[in-house]
Amino acid sequence: MAGGAGAGGEELRPGDGLLIVDVQRDFCPGGALPVPEGDGVVPVLNRWVRAAQRAGIPIYVSRDWHPHRHPSFEGSGGPWPPHCIQGSPGAELHPDLELPPDVVHVVKGVRFDRDQLSAFDGTGLASLLARDAVRRLWVGGLALDVCVRATVLDALGAGLDVHLIVAGTRPITDADGREALGIMAEAGVRIEEQE
Ligand SMILES: [Zn+2]
Repeated sequence: MAGGAGAGGEELRPGDGLLIVDVQRDFCPGGALPVPEGDGVVPVLNRWVRAAQRAGIPIYVSRDWHPHRHPSFEGSGGPWPPHCIQGSPGAELHPDLELPPDVVHVVKGVRFDRDQLSAFDGTGLASLLARDAVRRLWVGGLALDVCVRATVLDALGAGLDVHLIVAGTRPITDADGREALGIMAEAGVRIEEQE
């Protein structure tokens, strides 16, 4: 394993949860809002999914799921090109992501009054994690400097012990990615090197 990093997920145990953020076609190369090498997270996260299944811990998968004319879109006052439009091919999860049928899907970005970058924002996910007795949350997905950043910081705010799977995420820009990692580490997120 490169750099001496252990295989992903070896340390998973009861009380853990795995959260995969927005690994959708539009955030991968060829999509409407591509994250450079965004599809590179897929094989890494597939290993973590298998490890989570072996450990018997719950898996949560969020999706950006925007209506037409969403306020985050250029043309509706937002900063982004239209992306992850409900029911479109771009909103689909990456086809190579291997998920068991019982993962919990979390839908965000559906509001007309504001964007929801975080998988915790207005979704009730914190309540579900509490009900599932998850205390330690492992997070990967896209994009590191936008929705993963917001999600991870909200997870901390919800009182969770948060571990970022750094090999399982990519930033839109390297500079913003470095900044996000610094802010997360400072806030108390563990930056995990296992692949
Ligand atoms: Zn979005």
